[in-house]
Amino acid sequence: RRGIRRISTGVRALDELLGGGIETKAITELVGEFGSGKTQLCHQLSIMVQLPEDKGGLKAKALYVDTENTFRPERIMQIAKYRGLDPQEALRNILYARAYNSDHQMMIVEESKKIIEKENIGLIVIDSLVAHFRSEYPGRENLAERQQKLNHHIAQLLRIADIYNAAVVVTNQVVAQPDVFFGNPLKPAGGNVIAHGATYRVWLRKGKENVRIAKIFDSPYHPEREVTFRITEEGVVD
Ligand code: ATP
Ligand code: MG
Repeated sequence: RRGIRRISTGVRALDELLGGGIETKAITELVGEFGSGKTQLCHQLSIMVQLPEDKGGLKAKALYVDTENTFRPERIMQIAKYRGLDPQEALRNILYARAYNSDHQMMIVEESKKIIEKENIGLIVIDSLVAHFRSEYPGRENLAERQQKLNHHIAQLLRIADIYNAAVVVTNQVVAQPDVFFGNPLKPAGGNVIAHGATYRVWLRKGKENVRIAKIFDSPYHPEREVTFRITEEGVVD
């Protein structure tokens, strides 16, 4: 892909894992159990994108689509301060949208095209990509419709990322894989649609205390190496 740019995660080990940070013109999926750090990383990236290029950012704004009401302005200001930004200004540079259901979520993304260029948005966060879809289309009988809508949504996100040279970060949940006797009893939600739609898939796990473990999976280009980072008052750090 031509002309891609990168946003540093602010964590050296994670940047190395990702080949320099998260990419524009791509969808990076963060998947993991509750408390694994998906939302914390989304907060951190919304700050990092604002930094100048020589500090790992794009000197751009973020669009934050929050489906679970877990966006925390105080946390944004805390992380911004640690990264040397004015906390109030950093908060203003994050365009916040609360998505109340899956149709609303899709509409926000559709409408975002009107502002991305004008507002210089370099990062679009969808936290969580799948939660509304999963609760609104439960069971086997709704699976086909759910997957079709999700597919449309992801295609739309990728198109926007590509046209505007922006990075897209989405979070995903894990679900039980009851038929697995060996290996991982958990798998990402969203099935093939997300597996094929996400450009990079990062699995996050909890370690001891504030330690978290990340690895890239499903990628032919990345080694299945694990790195660790921590979540502290300062945000996500090495
Ligand atoms: P979910 O699936 O429930 O959305 P998640 O992967 O989004 O989970 P996060 O909300 O990113 O999880 O992570 C929450 C964890 O981050 C907390 O359990 C805590 O360990 C850590 N954390 C959050 N804020 C702070 C802070 N100010 N200082 C230290 N650790 C913090
Ligand atoms: Mg979360």
